[in-house]
Amino acid sequence: MKKNNIQMVDLMSQYSKIKNEIDRNIISSIESGRFVNGPIVKEFSENLSDYLNVKNVIPCANGTDALQIAFMALDLKPGDEIICPSWTYIATAEAAAILGIRVVFCDIDLDTFNTTADLIEPHITEYTKAIVPVHLYGQSCDMEPIIKLAENYNLKIIEDNAQAIGCKYSFPNGKIKFTGTLGHIGTTSFYPSKNLGCYGDGGAIFTDDNDLADRIRMIVNHGEKIKYHHEIIGCNSRLDSIQAEILNVKLNYLDEYNSNRQIMANNYNLAFKDIDEIKIPKIISSSEHVYHQYTLRVLNGKRDQVKNYLNDLGIPTMIYYPIPIHKQKPYRNNQILENTDILSKEVISIPIHTELENSNQDYIIDKVVKFFV
Ligand SMILES: *Cc1c(COP(=O)(O)O)cnc(C)c1O
Repeated sequence: MKKNNIQMVDLMSQYSKIKNEIDRNIISSIESGRFVNGPIVKEFSENLSDYLNVKNVIPCANGTDALQIAFMALDLKPGDEIICPSWTYIATAEAAAILGIRVVFCDIDLDTFNTTADLIEPHITEYTKAIVPVHLYGQSCDMEPIIKLAENYNLKIIEDNAQAIGCKYSFPNGKIKFTGTLGHIGTTSFYPSKNLGCYGDGGAIFTDDNDLADRIRMIVNHGEKIKYHHEIIGCNSRLDSIQAEILNVKLNYLDEYNSNRQIMANNYNLAFKDIDEIKIPKIISSSEHVYHQYTLRVLNGKRDQVKNYLNDLGIPTMIYYPIPIHKQKPYRNNQILENTDILSKEVISIPIHTELENSNQDYIIDKVVKFFV
């Protein structure tokens, strides 16, 4: 019996509230006749670089490209190794694998879903060139120890920030910076359902290193600085002007959207914290959480039961991710990643989005609680 209309993400209700601004900008973009990389793309990248307080934001076609371009900018080659969690979206590993880079997977912490310096270090070899921490579900990895580790071994850090845009990380010395600006290069995705999403595909690369930024600007545009003069091998990865118009509007709402997500997550946390068979997401003291996903662990093998039960009540859920990357066919290896394997059987993400109505959230909470008591 489905009597409500609860969705995992509700981009249409969100759009209806900003429709006037969005529509006006899209039309003016079309009328300008500058469809790809128009002036609005530059304006958006400047606005985002002000917001993030990072020197360079280079827009590109999507978050997967952003990662691939980051690897290309660091000149990683076949035979080089990167270390990333297996517990992430496929793109993190795929963007390296496509360049012939060996992807070595590390485990994650069971309570935060993120990797740590201690879990990365054993995988470092003489071939390791870069570490790719992923700020999964919207929370920063504990980056200070990872940055120290990278310094000790002379490795680069590429942060996959596709799920955590707008999340702040605090260093022990009190300095606060946004995720994606903590390592050498940060990447993000503007896929519609991301915390800052456009109405199609989009992505961006961040760096404070101006030389790297120069290379990245060439790579996204066929390795050229001057038209038809190709200095390095690049690709075609640009942001459409229409998408930049949309992002420019939505950037103004990012903080509000993220704090809405935090309020809803707090409601869930309060409601579920004393249920023995559920583990709510742990938040480390050095990071915020912008809740791209609200993900619970369901213990005692009951996850799939909970999923079916909620589905029957009209409550959608998702499993991010049902199969970790080190068990996917093209990446399969004999690595044993204990926590990753446990999580693939325990996690469930429940609706959290900017338009979730209180009454619907109350309904979700009520049903989840009823399952366990
Ligand atoms: C969404 C996502 C990507 C890829 O972004 P696309 O824009 O879909 O290519 C990469 N990494 C993570 C962790 C993601 O969630």
